[in-house]
Amino acid sequence: MDFENAKVRAKELRDLLNYHSHRYYVEDSPEIEDYEYDMLQRELVAIEKEFPALVTPDSPTQRVGGSAEGMFEPVVHAVPLESLQDAFSLEEVRAFDARVREQFSDIEYSVEPKIDGLSVALEYENGVFVRGSTRGDGNVGEDVTANLRTVNSIPLRLKEDVNIEVRGEVYMPKKVFASLVEEQEQNGEKTFKNPRNAAAGSLRQKNPAITATRNLDIFVFNIQRYNGNHITGHKQSIEYLKSLGFKTIPFCNKFSSVEDVITELERIGSIRSSLPFDIDGAVIKTDSFAMRTEIGSTSKFPRWALAFKYPPEEKETTVTDIEVAVGRTGVLTPTAVFEPVLVAGSTVSRATLHNQDFIDEKDIRIGDRIVIRKAGDIIPEVLRVISHKENSEKFLLPSVCPSCGATVIREEDEAAVRCVNPECPAQLLRNLIHFCSRDAMDIDGMGEAVLEKLVSGGMLTKASDIYTLKKEDVMTLEGFKDKSSQNIIDAIEKSKAADLGCLVFALGIRHVGQKAGKILADHFGTMEKLMNATIEDLTAIEGFGGIMGQSVVDFFSLEQSRHEIEALTALGVNMNSLKETIDNRFEGKTFVLTGALPTYSRNEASELIEKFGGKTASSVSKKTTYVLAGEDAGSKLTKAQTLGITIISEEEFNEMIK
Ligand code: NAD
Repeated sequence: MDFENAKVRAKELRDLLNYHSHRYYVEDSPEIEDYEYDMLQRELVAIEKEFPALVTPDSPTQRVGGSAEGMFEPVVHAVPLESLQDAFSLEEVRAFDARVREQFSDIEYSVEPKIDGLSVALEYENGVFVRGSTRGDGNVGEDVTANLRTVNSIPLRLKEDVNIEVRGEVYMPKKVFASLVEEQEQNGEKTFKNPRNAAAGSLRQKNPAITATRNLDIFVFNIQRYNGNHITGHKQSIEYLKSLGFKTIPFCNKFSSVEDVITELERIGSIRSSLPFDIDGAVIKTDSFAMRTEIGSTSKFPRWALAFKYPPEEKETTVTDIEVAVGRTGVLTPTAVFEPVLVAGSTVSRATLHNQDFIDEKDIRIGDRIVIRKAGDIIPEVLRVISHKENSEKFLLPSVCPSCGATVIREEDEAAVRCVNPECPAQLLRNLIHFCSRDAMDIDGMGEAVLEKLVSGGMLTKASDIYTLKKEDVMTLEGFKDKSSQNIIDAIEKSKAADLGCLVFALGIRHVGQKAGKILADHFGTMEKLMNATIEDLTAIEGFGGIMGQSVVDFFSLEQSRHEIEALTALGVNMNSLKETIDNRFEGKTFVLTGALPTYSRNEASELIEKFGGKTASSVSKKTTYVLAGEDAGSKLTKAQTLGITIISEEEFNEMIK
């Protein structure tokens, strides 16, 4: 390659690498495989080596990782979090050993798995966890202390009161990753590509409560700073970290010959797919700290360590079918079925195709010859098509739900196609659980287990069937006796009076949450008016955008939805907003509750008072209008008597709200 060509190619590579680096480190959403990225990077390194004049300060070869993006406070690392030089072949491992041995013939290496997660620094003062940060560009990272506190395996207090900074790899266990992706798929959300991106995306959340749900884990593998001096080597440091209470990098072993190192690399490679966490290689480290100092570092990585990367395993096979199933949330998911192949330790024959966009982008058809691999060594995925079968056609998702036959919809800005039919059997149980839940119709006793039995017994095929249930039906369920069955029937009966807002929420209209349900009910007053609302009527309400409006219109334009409302009305379910039917008879009046009321809980009584425009207070004063007293009323009652305040019983209260 001459200089001019090299210059053009170097620029091209820099742009490409910078683009993919941003996708990977900042957006946690890579577009290409790590292996491809590494090969591009190697090409640039080779060009820069041949033509040093082409090295620019902003070249991706001069940088570690991504930059801190401003979502979190920056943290300047007292000791930089370096990257590692990598090797893709055993020759490179031998060459690394030869270089090190030029300086030290009696070298000892420790070898440990390279966890595919993201690097963090954890700082402890007097044994207490005070700050945690991401690697960022190696010198400046992001302060993610609050999020790291949600990782259970990070000790908040160490077993000794030391000042120490350690480095570890936060990762998402394979099982957690697999169920997270399944959940995202079910919800029609964008899925994480691999456990590393999932871990990074979960740790870099604004809300630590979300991080907490992601079950992240950590392996600590290095001491960055420490106020003691009795540790002289790597393996010893790992043992010390373990004694302090850290979860440390597993199977860190020491070897003195390069051939033993290679055997260990092969051993780790062979158990790779059976490990509960994802690794992308193994790290070979000079064990002695004194030797490390002598060997030194470049600006980017230490010369005394090497990351050996395992090549991704890819296999060819043939697509025999593309199946489409509808999930609990109504999303239609296509799955490629292919001739079984052994990849990364297990035989696979299916891979999700996510959505129509994914199918179009790769142009996947039935009969295709394809290449597959396992993302993060776990989830099979179709990488690319090698060739189409003769006369094959583009694959399109069906326009009707494969489960119930209703027309499916695809919302703007969404990749997923959904069935929104509330009676679709594939979604029935989930819809019923939602319908009966506390913030919806609040039917006590109708939890998942009971509903599941009623559905499988054929007693419920839609929400309105709940109101046709009889005590005898419930008694057929295992464990239900006369009294417990009657309780459920009573709870169902009570729910008929629920506010229209609760019912609107209970219907499970997409994008309509509890608050929106209440706003719609209060705005339109009756179900009939809401059902006939146009998109203009809906978007005229403050806070209602086009997406929510369209979703309401779509829902009520389905014949099944209209039938369901008719059935619920006929069965006596309230279709009016309670706000409209209630007056302000308690306006300006203050109630104090005391003792146990015969039927109302404190909350229920307060809600009723507030519904009629009254207020409740916690202590009796001259301003109190009524004291609503139940059994075992104490000092509040006595005080009310002394102040001459009217005392009423629940019975009298019921008269007042009649
Ligand atoms: P790296 O991930 O290859 O290696 C360094 C990292 O290994 C350290 O930061 C450390 O956190 C981690 N590590 C895990 N276990 C370790 C152990 N036991 N000892 C020491 N370190 C351990 O290097 P990098 O500079 O972070 O990033 C390069 C990686 O990112 C490459 O794999 C590259 O393919 C990938 N990448 C991919 C894309 C893409 O678009 N697919 C883009 C950018 C980068």
